[in-house]
Amino acid sequence: MKNSRRDFLQKLAASAAAFPFLSSYDVLADGGLKPITSSQGPTLRVALMGLGGYASRVAEAMQSCKRAKITGLISGTPNKLSDWGDRFGVPEQSRYNYENFDRIKDNPNIDAVYVITPNALHHDQVMRVAKAGKHAICEKPMALNATEGQEMVDACAKAGVKLLVGYRMHFEPKTVEVVRMRTAGEFGKIKFFQGQCGFRIGDPSQWRLDRDLAGGGAMMDIGIYAINGSRYMVGEEPVWVTAQETKTDPVKFKEGVDETILFQLGFPSGAVASCLSTYNMNYLDRFFLNGEKGFAEMQPSTGYGPIKGRTNKGELTQPHVTHQTLQMDEMAGIILDGNTAIVPVDGNEGLKDLKIIDAIYRACATGTKQELHLV
Ligand code: NDP
Repeated sequence: MKNSRRDFLQKLAASAAAFPFLSSYDVLADGGLKPITSSQGPTLRVALMGLGGYASRVAEAMQSCKRAKITGLISGTPNKLSDWGDRFGVPEQSRYNYENFDRIKDNPNIDAVYVITPNALHHDQVMRVAKAGKHAICEKPMALNATEGQEMVDACAKAGVKLLVGYRMHFEPKTVEVVRMRTAGEFGKIKFFQGQCGFRIGDPSQWRLDRDLAGGGAMMDIGIYAINGSRYMVGEEPVWVTAQETKTDPVKFKEGVDETILFQLGFPSGAVASCLSTYNMNYLDRFFLNGEKGFAEMQPSTGYGPIKGRTNKGELTQPHVTHQTLQMDEMAGIILDGNTAIVPVDGNEGLKDLKIIDAIYRACATGTKQELHLV
């Protein structure tokens, strides 16, 4: 065990230049990786914006955070502001609506705003958060396209605030362990990744099926996990993409709302990825990574967990931690302590996924291979 740990550290040191993002971790006795955010230190004071389904999950999970707490609320629904305010102890002067939330700039009890609204609203809301001088955490997809994403990255840089994307899997222990094994060379040269992400979507009147609010269909919502996953599992940025769309229900999935897209990515090393994004099939939450010396298989791979997986060396046994609790504690470390995430969660990471999404839609529309320039 000691030898394999030393081997890992030597390999990791040797590959540090190739994988500069692997810099903020503790190596555990079993060789696993643990993000290094200390449970000690200042608390990140967060205003939640958009008090819907996912914000409820985040709010509950944040009750167990050591480094992050809810100190503000932003909602278009007055009774949610009073209910959530009472429930999470947020005083009236820290409750805002979408018209007046620019006033958070004068609120010393809010460090960051977590934007958890429909996709089309992310861009303008993050721009306003940056203008108010607060850090922005934004749900995926960070925006509707790369042009919007670039504007958000630039605005946050100009305002001197951080922009992070709610990529909770980047902190998930089994995922981090697979990334560590890959980085340490335990799978050998990576050849292939397969990401299958989808579910059968219900209520046809929901915003996820409204092109104006969602910016697309399954790709914006669930396919993005396969895009993002191919990048952190393969450990390279893709240089081309091809994609094909199929639609079996044009009434439910209107023009501009994708039902099912198959896409393929090519990486500089020669590795390839084959992925599926769909709103029309259940039981699709699977990653498979293949290398010359081994493999990793995760199913479920991106759901709320517990994540399950195995490699050629056996079961992944890292403990389940509520994803959003871990994410918010780690994001506190990134924002307040200047930590670097094991797999980045900054605005540029979100922007790269948007560039790939733009290219996938172009590939579907034109039937041609699209070059990608992400680095
Ligand atoms: P919901 O529909 O459940 O909630 C969205 C909330 O946004 C609403 O409740 C509402 O809150 C507010 N809102 C503001 N304007 C509108 C509008 N025009 N239409 C509808 N709602 C509006 O969506 P989710 O919580 O499921 O998704 C929100 C975001 O979170 C999306 O970007 C999604 O992709 C992301 N997400 C991420 C997940 C992850 O695992 N990382 C999982 C699920 C979602 P209010 O009444 O307070 O204004």
